Amino acid sequence: MLVSFSIATFASSAPKFGLPIDCKLGQDCYIMHYVDHDPTSKVIDFGCGRQTYDTHNGTDFGIPNLQIMQQGVQVKAIEDGIVLRVRDGVEDNLISNQEDKKAIEGKECGNGIVIKHEDGWESQYCHLKQNSIIVKNGMEVEKGTTLGMVGTSGLSSFPHVHLSLRQEGKIVDPFVGITDKTGCDITKKSLWEKKLDYTPTGLIEAGFASEIPTQQKLWEGQFYNLSINNKSPQLIFWIHAFGVLENDQESFQLINPNNQLIINQKKPINKSSRTWMSYAGKNNKSSLEKGTWIGKYQLMRNNKIVFNLERKITIN
Ligand SMILES: [Zn+2]
Repeated sequence: MLVSFSIATFASSAPKFGLPIDCKLGQDCYIMHYVDHDPTSKVIDFGCGRQTYDTHNGTDFGIPNLQIMQQGVQVKAIEDGIVLRVRDGVEDNLISNQEDKKAIEGKECGNGIVIKHEDGWESQYCHLKQNSIIVKNGMEVEKGTTLGMVGTSGLSSFPHVHLSLRQEGKIVDPFVGITDKTGCDITKKSLWEKKLDYTPTGLIEAGFASEIPTQQKLWEGQFYNLSINNKSPQLIFWIHAFGVLENDQESFQLINPNNQLIINQKKPINKSSRTWMSYAGKNNKSSLEKGTWIGKYQLMRNNKIVFNLERKITIN
């Protein structure tokens, strides 16, 4: 009796949650926003960075663009439980202004699911793809059960799933665990079953375009798997990233099929940004050399590489 009691107590004090999304973090998905730990109108995430926004009460797991969203990325239950509430039927959109924001008032979570777990825990999943939810109220689910697909319904400006975690109705940051303290200088006991690194800066996607990109077009996936021919008026190498800081340094290189360095550009970032789009490119006066072009990018902070990458495109 005593033994089983102590096991139960141990289990309830240390839940270990799975990821709410079926993807490889740092490869085909990323965490855009964490829980805001500042009770005032300022913001701070659990790692003492600024990758959150005021009153944000969950963790946002993002995917690169709407094309990938259409292909389908699964949202998963983070723990065994029973489905408490479901809403579906809300359109997917990319909210970019106050008017859009007003139109979805009261439906900020978009297509969402709430699951009740043991010991007063609840998880909520928001912004799923319209008509993708495959669970119903009262249904039992297991950790890893597919609930629906990642979308961008409700108050959402990029394709992602927002996960809120609550214990007895109180918001808990899964990177921190239960605490009464505010701010980021606190004891942290991750509730994730696997070790998740704090990644306040990283890549969403990088690629090429035949015109100047905008963030809107990048989120839409307009340059996803793009083919470019040698008559293209421009060859642009772009990156879409999150969590850049003022005084970070970017460098772009573009190398043609003859191994000539066509572009070698360094530029400072003047303003910290939660999302960031940047590019370098070549105007095409005659025609582009056919063959494989290489783009290289590096983000530096205090003379250290934050991340770097290389992308190739074949021009026909
Ligand atoms: Zn969110």
